[in-house]
Amino acid sequence: MKLSKSIDDKMDEMWERRQNQILEPLGIKSDGANKKWNIKIKSQLIYELMDLIEKYLTEKNPRLLKRYNSAWEYPPKRFIILRGSPDRRKQQAKEWMNEAISQGVKKDFIYILWKGDKCLYVGQSTTGGNRFGGHHKSDPWMNAHRLEVRIAKNKKQLDFLECMTIHLYSPFYNSVLVHKQSGRSPCEICKKLRKVEDELKFTFALK
Ligand SMILES: [Zn+2]
Repeated sequence: MKLSKSIDDKMDEMWERRQNQILEPLGIKSDGANKKWNIKIKSQLIYELMDLIEKYLTEKNPRLLKRYNSAWEYPPKRFIILRGSPDRRKQQAKEWMNEAISQGVKKDFIYILWKGDKCLYVGQSTTGGNRFGGHHKSDPWMNAHRLEVRIAKNKKQLDFLECMTIHLYSPFYNSVLVHKQSGRSPCEICKKLRKVEDELKFTFALK
């Protein structure tokens, strides 16, 4: 199904449920008479709708995708297979990248933790392999099988590249969108998402 149609259908369902909630106490039967509307259903449907809108805004934006795809150093992708405990894996990643950097690879990159074709986590580094040490979250490292690194041509693009990678792959462990982190200027997709999320919360407010 086309994304725009899915978005339209999802909103129709929300209107129907909301309308039913208003009319049911008056004894008026509307189309979606058995469909409930409560805080749990509302949160779930807004979450699903925002996910569709995020996909739509990212996939239907050739200008941004072109900027994204041309922002990487060649070769654009590097992978290693991760083995052992989370700490061992981080150490392995750190040594691998620092070795590459000692041979001339730039130290500014986006990294992606994968489990099969499922994206678990996206992050950025301006400090080479040292980013993988210390207090970095354990869960994605425990569950990932593979680390991908994409080197950025320009350090100034890292926030944009990290944000776009998150929009493209919806990583399981990046629960907080980059635009909600302090000190970041939101990318244009984040700006649109924030606006529409505010509108939805206002439009479908529950007492
Ligand atoms: Zn963004």
